[in-house]
Amino acid sequence: MSPVSSLSGKTAIVTGSNSGIGLGIVWELARVGADVVLNSFTNRDEDHALAARIADETGVSARYIKADMSDGNECRSLIEQAGVCDILINNAGIQHVSPIDQFPVDKWDAIIAINMNSAFHTTAAALPKMRAAGWGRIVNIASAHGLTASPYKAAYVTAKHGIVGMTKTVALETAQEHITANAICPGYVLTPLVEAQIPNTMAEYEMSREDVIKNVLLARQPSKEFATIAQIGGTTVFLCSETAAQITGTTISLDGGWTAL
Ligand code: NAD
Repeated sequence: MSPVSSLSGKTAIVTGSNSGIGLGIVWELARVGADVVLNSFTNRDEDHALAARIADETGVSARYIKADMSDGNECRSLIEQAGVCDILINNAGIQHVSPIDQFPVDKWDAIIAINMNSAFHTTAAALPKMRAAGWGRIVNIASAHGLTASPYKAAYVTAKHGIVGMTKTVALETAQEHITANAICPGYVLTPLVEAQIPNTMAEYEMSREDVIKNVLLARQPSKEFATIAQIGGTTVFLCSETAAQITGTTISLDGGWTAL
């Protein structure tokens, strides 16, 4: 059996997928034949144009649905509007860096809502559809910060540890239903989320961009290379394949050895 079978006939919903890792996952799923639903809270013409381009280039059906992942009702509405949900990728995420005693409450609430609570709501809405179809795949994009901590990232580390725990629980609740739930734990990937952390770090440590990348961002990533969006997309496709049917309730790290330290 090919490690990556076709996902033709399956519909995948990827939260937070108009940029970065989510968009890369959409492309990889579409390339192996899955119909895809893109999501963000923006609802711009270019979001819909992105879906049209993916459909044109891959031949699958691709739609964009606006839903704000900080709002539980909108999370559930995304799944209902999509109609079908064979594959659910919980990817939407934001970051804020601050000592915990100065951590802005609104940032804490937003990170917990978008990075963790959204996956509860989408999973709850998607499971009846997967059960009706007799098959399902849930892939939660966690982080190395779902397995280990860094200072000043209290909300992010809390949310990512939470989503790893939720992944295990969902796997146990669906273990006999041909539904799997797993979490991917990337180390640093050069996306807009990480780009946004570079200028402040350069100013804080009076470092060049290159030094920030090597000595701060990749300080704990032994390979000294970023994980790539394509690698995360490919791992997601693998977890959706029949080869991975007995992989459930676990984490896969793409972190260049970070969590081996
Ligand atoms: P990104 O900023 O490029 O993408 C984030 C996505 O989430 C965007 O599509 C954005 O539109 C969407 N989003 C943000 N707030 C939203 C909301 N309220 N409702 C709906 N969508 C919303 O960042 P990324 O690096 O691609 O991050 C994607 C995921 O990967 C996140 O969960 C992040 O924690 C995780 N991750 C990233 C890295 C990294 O180094 N980049 C490492 C580990 C894990």
